[in-house]
Amino acid sequence: MPDGVLRARRFFGERSRSAEGWSALVRDGREWESFYRERWQHDRVVRSTHGVNCTGSCSWKIHVKDGIVAWETQQTDYPRTRPELPNHEPRGCSRGASYSWYLYSANRVKYPMVRGRLLRALREARRPRSPIPTPSPAGAARAAGWDGGVATNTSLARDGVEGLPHAAEAGGLSGAPIRSRATRTLALLAAELGGEVPLIGAGGIMSGSDAAEKFACGAALVQLYTGLIYRGPALVAECAAAHAHKAPA
Ligand code: SF4
Repeated sequence: MPDGVLRARRFFGERSRSAEGWSALVRDGREWESFYRERWQHDRVVRSTHGVNCTGSCSWKIHVKDGIVAWETQQTDYPRTRPELPNHEPRGCSRGASYSWYLYSANRVKYPMVRGRLLRALREARRPRSPIPTPSPAGAARAAGWDGGVATNTSLARDGVEGLPHAAEAGGLSGAPIRSRATRTLALLAAELGGEVPLIGAGGIMSGSDAAEKFACGAALVQLYTGLIYRGPALVAECAAAHAHKAPA
């Protein structure tokens, strides 16, 4: 028979009992008492609360021994709200009272958790895939069977008008601020299409020289709108002259 079981038999031997039979006198040492005394020993007391899954923030006295939370009790120093109301004390719930156990429990969640199914879905979504080819504007124009087209439209960007009184207003920006950007786009599109279809240059044409720039970058025609409002019909004559002098294609 194992030693432990043999030793346990000492609890089943004959004892001298009290008259009512409620207690038995055991002649033994008192070493076991030290367990209870040491259980409540501590080096210092600090104030804290329970921050995990609770917004209560009740004030607690934390009794610490050798750097480990040994036990805790309510601080009981909240001010009374009103004389006719009972005070809050001892403020703190039973979960808080057992929190020091939870601190060192194997059940304590120390790291973020994620459901396995969601993690697998996330990994699948992040798996590298071969890139989807993006058609170039020129390719899209060919696919659509363009006979010709206006190279650019207004822009939602606000480059060049930052800080001006109406810069933050909604809508597309047109006119002089978008001229160089529109011309660059025209030049790229013209280079890709290589003269397959006629392109109309638009965006910030405020003078004949602006029109000449568009022609030089591949425009067959130019479109006026903002410039016409600011400059009037004289701009049309300047653009026509620029077209007349453009270098032959
Ligand atoms: S005692 Fe209870 S209610 Fe108060 S902070 Fe701790 S866990 Fe939250």
